[in-house]
Amino acid sequence: MFSYRHAFHAGSHADILKHLTLIHLVEYLQEKPGALTIVDTHAGAGIYSLVDGFATVSKEAEGGIFRLSQFFGKNSETPESIRKYLEMIQAENTGEELNTYPGSPFIIARLLRPQDRLKLFELHPKEIDILRHNIGELKEAKQIDVYAADSFSRLKGLLPPPSRRGLVLIDPSYEDKQDYRYLENAMEEALQRFATGCYAIWYPILSRRESASLPDHLKKIAATHKRSWLHTELRVENAPGERRLQASGMFIINPPWTLEKHLDEALPVLVKALGVDAGAKYVLKSFEA
Ligand code: SAM
Repeated sequence: MFSYRHAFHAGSHADILKHLTLIHLVEYLQEKPGALTIVDTHAGAGIYSLVDGFATVSKEAEGGIFRLSQFFGKNSETPESIRKYLEMIQAENTGEELNTYPGSPFIIARLLRPQDRLKLFELHPKEIDILRHNIGELKEAKQIDVYAADSFSRLKGLLPPPSRRGLVLIDPSYEDKQDYRYLENAMEEALQRFATGCYAIWYPILSRRESASLPDHLKKIAATHKRSWLHTELRVENAPGERRLQASGMFIINPPWTLEKHLDEALPVLVKALGVDAGAKYVLKSFEA
């Protein structure tokens, strides 16, 4: 426990899928003026260097954000569904070069309107200090609460949010294989309290049984609560072994109706831009309750 540091993985292909989806969810929910509460259950450090420290060990951004931004270069043909994401990453960098990558807390914070609130959970004793420091630098800091707590047990206590309009990003490290079970329990509890919330769950695609069965378990939970869902996966390579993460997925409960079209435009382009071998592909499925 606590060996996971997101700085090793910042800007990877998995972050691209997650953050591109996240931006669309926030922007859709902000089409209505009512206050929005966003909970990021696994926050990480908030923002990361792409050129120093952990990032230079893993080099995951090379197959992710660096590759994607090179693919488009100054190309004005960047699809609408990807443009906003790239603009948000670029906005955290002063020059043309990408040195910094914003994690989900920074991406969400930059999108907050005055009426919105952000709740961040982080359990790692070092990451929480870095997160608090990074959030303190933001002009939106007053709208943000940071909790050094286990979000799986604390999420239900924040639901439903006062405005009854909420988005929950659930992005565990899955360092502990029990995380799959904790997540499923937390989703059950969350839907009992706040069935109409939008829930976005990220997961790694691995051969481990818990990972392979997670989407089916989530479909069952959604069905029990009569909820719509959208399931997407992005695979950048299909090589033997699991030395590095080759694919990841997102499962969205109560997705906005616009999300499928958004991802249908973005995913083939991401496969083209980030695909390493002929096994690169995507999955996009949905169910309307
Ligand atoms: N959401 C972040 C992003 O997109 O930039 C990345 C988060 S990283 C995948 C997962 C984080 O969750 C790690 O920093 C880890 O320390 C933290 N964590 C693990 N278990 C937790 C728990 N039960 N409650 C809160 N945070 C936890």
